Amino acid sequence: MISVALALLIARSSLLAASAQENALEQLKAEGELPAEIAPATGTAAVVLPYIPRDDSPGEKERAQVRADDIRMLSAKAFDLSIPAPVMPVQATFGTFSLSPGRTCATPWAPPQFCQIAGPKEWTPQEIDLFSPVFSGLVNDPRLTAFFQKVNRNGYTTIFRYTQRAEFDVDSGQWQAKMNSAWYDSFDKSINMTDRLFMSKRTHIRTTGMTHDMADLGLLHELAHIFDGDEQDLPDTSILPEFLQLTGFNLGSDGEWSLVGVDAKELGEMKDWYYSQFTIAATMPEGPERAAFVTSINERVNGYAQKLGFPSLYSMLGGPSEAFAEFVAYTFYEPELMRLTNPNVSAWIEKSVFK
Ligand SMILES: [Zn+2]
Repeated sequence: MISVALALLIARSSLLAASAQENALEQLKAEGELPAEIAPATGTAAVVLPYIPRDDSPGEKERAQVRADDIRMLSAKAFDLSIPAPVMPVQATFGTFSLSPGRTCATPWAPPQFCQIAGPKEWTPQEIDLFSPVFSGLVNDPRLTAFFQKVNRNGYTTIFRYTQRAEFDVDSGQWQAKMNSAWYDSFDKSINMTDRLFMSKRTHIRTTGMTHDMADLGLLHELAHIFDGDEQDLPDTSILPEFLQLTGFNLGSDGEWSLVGVDAKELGEMKDWYYSQFTIAATMPEGPERAAFVTSINERVNGYAQKLGFPSLYSMLGGPSEAFAEFVAYTFYEPELMRLTNPNVSAWIEKSVFK
């Protein structure tokens, strides 16, 4: 089956490059990081091959690392790609997106441990009603036409519903529950939403007098990640030199990053405090008290971040890719705040992402 993939590669690149790819494949197989056989996708998934850096630049190294992570996920999930992806019922559509129940344990594309933790469920009519205006507003917004063209070109059209996120932990070899409200999956090309998103749907953030849902920001944040990557091997938007320079990220050749002009110790303390507060929030019952608590956490840390040119503390904690997703979401939903916080980045997003 690998020969099919290699044939495609040879058609695309030189024989020399193909043999480098083949060596990398063999190496990954020897390290146990690749299934013995990768079947070509008959469903929505794509065959994932290692990415060979073209040069020593940080961007190329990061791309190779991201691809290696994808391959680890692929072997971890142990999906049987020779079986077509099960077609899940469509519960609602918005433009090219459809809402579907999460994949159940009965479907061959959901490893048992994954779906036991993730808890697939259907969208309730109330949830569909709650998100309809958000989805419709985004897909019909003329500023986002080119944005959605790229998201769709990257192959993401399905939005699944799960109780919580389950993520494969490479170190322990186990699936683990994660506290995410939404996540995107580059392997099966899905956007996945969890119960947590519906809690933040009632958690408002207030910055420059505007009030809106964290869930709306969260959805656009995930879509921005999908826009950021490129399935046709163009560089990710978040590692373009212009974006790094405007945001102050220094990206090392090893993929390590730092922020120019930011006290790393102070940022570390803010981060520890931020995560400790969310651990407390997670133990509180859902309700107005919890929502007010989460709002107060965000107001405190986001004020700190905004003085440093970032819309939220979260946008400073996860490197260029998390920053990019946050900047896109805030430029769309909080243009006034962005003009005050970092007008150069918002102008660049307007020009390069919302054309
Ligand atoms: Zn993110």
